[in-house]
Amino acid sequence: MDDRDTGVELSGDDSVHDFIRDTIREDLTAGRHNAVVTRFPPEPNGYLHIGHAKSICLNFGIAREFDGRCNLRFDDTNPSKEEQEYIDAIQADVRWLGFDWGEHLYFASDYFEQLYEWAQHLIGAGLAYVDDQSAEEIREHRGTLTEAGRESPYRNRDAAENLDLFGRMRAGEFPDGTRVLRAKIDMTSGNINLRDPVLYRISHTEHPRTGTDWCLYPTYDFAHGQSDTIEGVTHSLCTLEFADHRPLYDWLIENLPVPSRPRQYEFSRLNLTHTVLSKRRLIQFVQDGHVAGWDDPRMPTISGLRRRGVPPEAIRDFIARIAITKNEGTIEIAMLEHCIREMLNQSAERRMAVLKPLKLVIENYPEGEREMLEAVNNPNDQACGTREIPFSRELYIEQDDFMEDPPRKFFRLGPGREVRLRYAYFVTCTEAIKNDAGEIVEIRATYDPATRGGDSPDGRKVKGTIHWVSAADAISAEVRMYDHLFASPDPSAGDDFTADLNPQSLEVLPDCKFEPSIAGIETGNAIQFERLGYFCPDAESTADKPVFNRTLALRDGWAKAQQKK
Ligand code: ATP
Ligand code: MG
Repeated sequence: MDDRDTGVELSGDDSVHDFIRDTIREDLTAGRHNAVVTRFPPEPNGYLHIGHAKSICLNFGIAREFDGRCNLRFDDTNPSKEEQEYIDAIQADVRWLGFDWGEHLYFASDYFEQLYEWAQHLIGAGLAYVDDQSAEEIREHRGTLTEAGRESPYRNRDAAENLDLFGRMRAGEFPDGTRVLRAKIDMTSGNINLRDPVLYRISHTEHPRTGTDWCLYPTYDFAHGQSDTIEGVTHSLCTLEFADHRPLYDWLIENLPVPSRPRQYEFSRLNLTHTVLSKRRLIQFVQDGHVAGWDDPRMPTISGLRRRGVPPEAIRDFIARIAITKNEGTIEIAMLEHCIREMLNQSAERRMAVLKPLKLVIENYPEGEREMLEAVNNPNDQACGTREIPFSRELYIEQDDFMEDPPRKFFRLGPGREVRLRYAYFVTCTEAIKNDAGEIVEIRATYDPATRGGDSPDGRKVKGTIHWVSAADAISAEVRMYDHLFASPDPSAGDDFTADLNPQSLEVLPDCKFEPSIAGIETGNAIQFERLGYFCPDAESTADKPVFNRTLALRDGWAKAQQKK
């Protein structure tokens, strides 16, 4: 089931069609390229999220389908926000998703010297100048969508003076923010990105890779396309917000002695209901302590999804189902959850666990006796075999599975009612014992020894089957029940998205009871607790103190029926 290591076909085959893949087919047929080179270009200023997975599956998927190559390139041009921790985490996440860049790991910072030379080239050609205006002044001169920009008083400096100043910027003579290098294009352009965009800014900030070698750094716009051409990228795929930058991308390629001519194509970003997908905001949740870290299982990060027990196949399947288009839209998180459930329903082994335990004592079962019963590990995969679970006189059942005065459609346990204990026997409730406060603390029952395995020889039917765990054999554990981090479907709508944080996004159940075979389950490997949902051991889980995360609930028919009333 697990194709993480086997490198099987990922996002599809030749039959995958979208406007980008169709363009690539045309380019190959027409001989415009003989091989496809793409890249995934994260900025190492945070952890990857499920939105990035769309870009990863697209770029690496295309390389695989067209027998091409996909580079992993860090766009590390803004050292004030970038860290080695993020560089490491991004690589681990891309690998975990099932993709491999081979030897093609690159950093924009490796190109700083080349980029600097190209900037000098633009200056020499009269296409770039050093501007002494402050950021504020530059903004004021830029104009608006309806109003042309105004030229900087420094715009017509001659090349020699510009080259000299640019060299002194590099040498560290000027403080941050005092000068920038700008392309000299057109301050009246209808596209604001062409109104003399900034190519270099001074920043006396240590860089995670180049240390203190540089005190001026290229902007995204100057680094991105040029990095693409250095790497021989043929199709530079990015999200729609960069469509307005494409004329600048092309202008730079046009005016520089670059080795190749990549083309940029834009597709719509992934947005999900109940989810915020923006590193800037995600970092705030982490820093402000709204979550336990980047890999908190409520986070939409790849590492959060992993810790929650989501298999990488389910993420790839989800991305394959949402088409690559130019249409902006928001996908229901229920669709992602559907993909996860579908995958886990096939692959997850079944176990029994009781989350909110209630003691059930079987009065006619001999004290001190224990027998082993056979249980199926995965009804959808015979190869997973069976296991033995201990049964004894004292069990735990779920508090929710007993009602003193049950309504008509409640097919679980109640006074005088008979139910099936999964894989075990029919039991009939004889009594509910209460404490002084009137709370039910123990259920008494009798069992029918003829129903061993869960069927009665006389053909007697019971409507309900409940799960259970043998009290003396149970492993006590903590379970963390997760729900959406945001209560409303569109948390990005308001300015103060923290107001919309779901107060019930985490419920800790401190004393759950698991069947003993749980001990062998590996971290991050999701299993199904029968009738409850999918769960996996958390990274903090130990043999002494098991901690499990709920990946997702099963759909609960009873709860749904309750809601409809
Ligand atoms: P964020 O807005 O979360 O900060 P970003 O675009 O700044 O994301 P980058 O590290 O620059 O993050 O992104 C790397 C690549 O991932 C880019 O090509 C970007 O277009 C793509 N990407 C980022 N977010 C999404 C998304 N929600 N859907 C699809 N692709 C995305
Ligand atoms: Mg970015």
